[in-house]
Parts: sequence; C-alpha cells; structure tokens
Amino acid sequence: ETTNYISFLKDIIDRFEMSKKQHIHFELKLPRGPIYTYLDRDKMTQVIDNIISNAIKYSPDGGRITFKVVKKGNHLVTGIRDQGVGIPKENLTKIFDRFFRVDKARSRNLGGTGLGLAIAKEIVAAHGGEIWADSEWNKGTAIFFTLPLSKGGSYDA
Ligand code: ATP
Ligand code: MG
Repeated sequence: ETTNYISFLKDIIDRFEMSKKQHIHFELKLPRGPIYTYLDRDKMTQVIDNIISNAIKYSPDGGRITFKVVKKGNHLVTGIRDQGVGIPKENLTKIFDRFFRVDKARSRNLGGTGLGLAIAKEIVAAHGGEIWADSEWNKGTAIFFTLPLSKGGSYDA
C-alpha cells in the first residue's frame, strides 16, 4: 500500500530505540517532509528489522548507528551505517547468500541462521529495488537499499 516511508521508518527505529539494551546511539538523517512509496509494510519491516538487528549485534558498546534517506532520481536510497566489526571486502556480496556468515565461530555466539539478508534481498527485489553493502574491516558496515518512488508523486491510496 502507499505509505509515508519516512514515518514508517521512524516507527521502526523508535521500536528499537525503546527496546535496545546496549548503549548505542541512533542518529537520524531523514528528509523533513513525507515521502510516499508503494510497499508491503510487513515485508519491508522484516527487511529493516534485520538490518538494524545486525547493526546492533555487531556494534561495540557506545557505538553509533546512522540512518540516512535520500532521493536519487526516481528512487529512495536508505543507508544504515554502524561502527561495528565490519565485513571483509571479499564477503560483501556473499552476505546476501543463504546461510552465509562471515565468521562461523563469532556468529554462532551471536545467534541467528544467516538467512536475514538473503530474505531481505528477495523482498527488496520484489519491490523493484536493490540492496548492497559497503564496509571497512574493524571500522563498520553500511547497508544500502533502494525503493522506487511512487509514480506521479504523492497520492492517497
Ligand atoms: P539471521 O539474520 O538469520 O538471524 P544473521 O544475522 O547471521 O542471521 P544475516 O542477517 O543474513 O544473517 O547476515 C549474514 C552475515 O553477514 C552475518 O552472519 C554476519 O557475518 C554478516 N553481517 C551482517 N550484517 C553485519 C554488520 N552490520 N556488521 C558485521 N557483519 C554483518
Ligand atoms: Mg541478521
């Protein structure tokens, strides 16, 4: 359905802000006004939940997670950046494969199955978008995904 993506994303971030246990600071760089997109709210919530829980899982205490949304052409680009352990360059595309986890020993302690980003990739693709990662080992990770903007701008569903 047609959704104001900015308030949709803020609601998800707020939910994490209220439940997070570690000292992790959230920084929001979001456009002021509403931006309308056509999306499956449950499925996109699943995507964003996984990206945020990964960012929290791999962040150090006191780390910062930055959320940024920008318009680029007829797409919206969302970036979620952390200051965690990072991902080696050669694994930046593999993390979107089913069951792939960077460091089996490390990941086992942190729980999870290695499916989150594979599912995220399918969901984003079904929305007509793309998802990718950028990272520097030991400095942090950024996950980006695009969503097409509603054609003809905003409208009531
Ligand atoms: P699940 O999401 O199924 O609970 P998971 O979190 O291990 O398990 P994915 O979300 O698919 O699986 O992530 C795959 C792997 O990519 C992770 O196991 C981890 O090795 C790496 N990864 C993902 N996000 C980050 C991040 N923000 N920082 C460092 N490594 C990451
Ligand atoms: Mg995950």
